[in-house]
Amino acid sequence: MLFITSLLLILSCQQPIASNEIINSPDSTMNSSKTGNPYYSRTDTTKLELTDAEWQKVLPDDVYHIARNKGTERAFTGKFWDFEGLGNYYCAACGNALFKSDSKFASSCGWPSFYESLRPTSVRYESDNSYGMRRIEVLCGRCDGHLGHIFDDGPPPTGKRFCMNSIMLDFEPETK
Ligand code: FE
Repeated sequence: MLFITSLLLILSCQQPIASNEIINSPDSTMNSSKTGNPYYSRTDTTKLELTDAEWQKVLPDDVYHIARNKGTERAFTGKFWDFEGLGNYYCAACGNALFKSDSKFASSCGWPSFYESLRPTSVRYESDNSYGMRRIEVLCGRCDGHLGHIFDDGPPPTGKRFCMNSIMLDFEPETK
């Protein structure tokens, strides 16, 4: 019974493992995407409209793959799926403030999960009918980078589950 329950939970995540998936590199640091990236800012909310070629010049390979090629990290491999630190999460590609740890909840799906974004404009949404599924894609509101998907099986108060890729998140601990 436990096995079946676990299987159902895994299947309910509905996030396909793409053939071009990548594994989060253990040597990628939380702020690695800032190195050599002049567009990264945690204060400037100006919309960024760069070509994929321009992004490729400034992003680490793992961030570029998910942000611009809509990749998916392997479940249970990212640095934040079971992380419980207090603070804020920022877009790893552009520094845009995305989520507060207050809205993060324990999800068994293997990806960091939040029930709401930090600001309504932190993210934007697009329908995604790839892999034979109807899903809602979540993109960064500033750089349009792919972050993950949103589902309707989250906890109160929103009932939403923002299912995100750890690779697309930078974490900044709150200061006391
Ligand atoms: Fe971004």
